[in-house]
Amino acid sequence: MQQQTVKEFSIDDGIGLHSGNIAKLRFLPAKENTGIVFRRVDLENKPEIKALYSNVVDTKNSTNLGFDGKMYVRTIEHLMCGLYMAGVDNAIVEIDNEEMPIFDGSASIFSEMFKKDKIIAQNAPRKFLKVKKAAGFTDNNGNTVSIKPYNNGLKVNFEIEFPSPIVGHQMFSAKIDNDIYQKEIMDSRTFCEKYQVDYLQSIGLAKGGSLDNAVVLDGDKILNPGGLRHEKECVNHKVLDIIGDMYTSGYHIIGEITASKTGHFHSNELLKILFSDTENYEII
Ligand SMILES: [Zn+2]
Repeated sequence: MQQQTVKEFSIDDGIGLHSGNIAKLRFLPAKENTGIVFRRVDLENKPEIKALYSNVVDTKNSTNLGFDGKMYVRTIEHLMCGLYMAGVDNAIVEIDNEEMPIFDGSASIFSEMFKKDKIIAQNAPRKFLKVKKAAGFTDNNGNTVSIKPYNNGLKVNFEIEFPSPIVGHQMFSAKIDNDIYQKEIMDSRTFCEKYQVDYLQSIGLAKGGSLDNAVVLDGDKILNPGGLRHEKECVNHKVLDIIGDMYTSGYHIIGEITASKTGHFHSNELLKILFSDTENYEII
């Protein structure tokens, strides 16, 4: 399997979920073994930052890249999932503001835009991260994420439990391929409780949040007029997030991830632990 990059193209402006900023994206091809690199074209010298777990500086509510104590690109996870599933190994993503557009709260737009005529095959073979030894991270509340060897691509097991009677206890378990991605994961939106939105907005976050870009739950009601897109849309979205977050490894992954009630923080800790011991993995 060869590495792939993208043709140059731009997409329409979109609003950032947390900042409320409007940002425009332009995609540019990149050389083999470049990885995914964000470029802030609105800043002096157009600083670049690679989408790597070691460049993640904040994981509160979203996955955010930065360096030197500054945050440069926020909320990258849905695009990263779209890039992973489209098989884009190398690309420059130009952005003219701090936060990625949220669009409809899923990865649909990102996945639609990488339709085949946007993808260019390169000569070098794709590199995979193959898990050789199990690694895991558990927080103080017992929420846990781990990864272990699995020979058949990427498998994800995810469990969530929320007090909301609409979410409750949900589980997902499957090998991730394009079929299940397109049917169940790609269009699954981010979700929250109305009281959380009220709180986040009171502290200056979720400024761009609306029923157009998130499923909002209020007790036993879904406030979005169209309801849910899938019966298990909430856990499906968590799978979308973890695929995107795990792509900050810099590789397509051969392994099985099992997560219980975790988020961006846990995924980032898992990657740090995985990479802390070269016995845990090999690059093939
Ligand atoms: Zn998300």
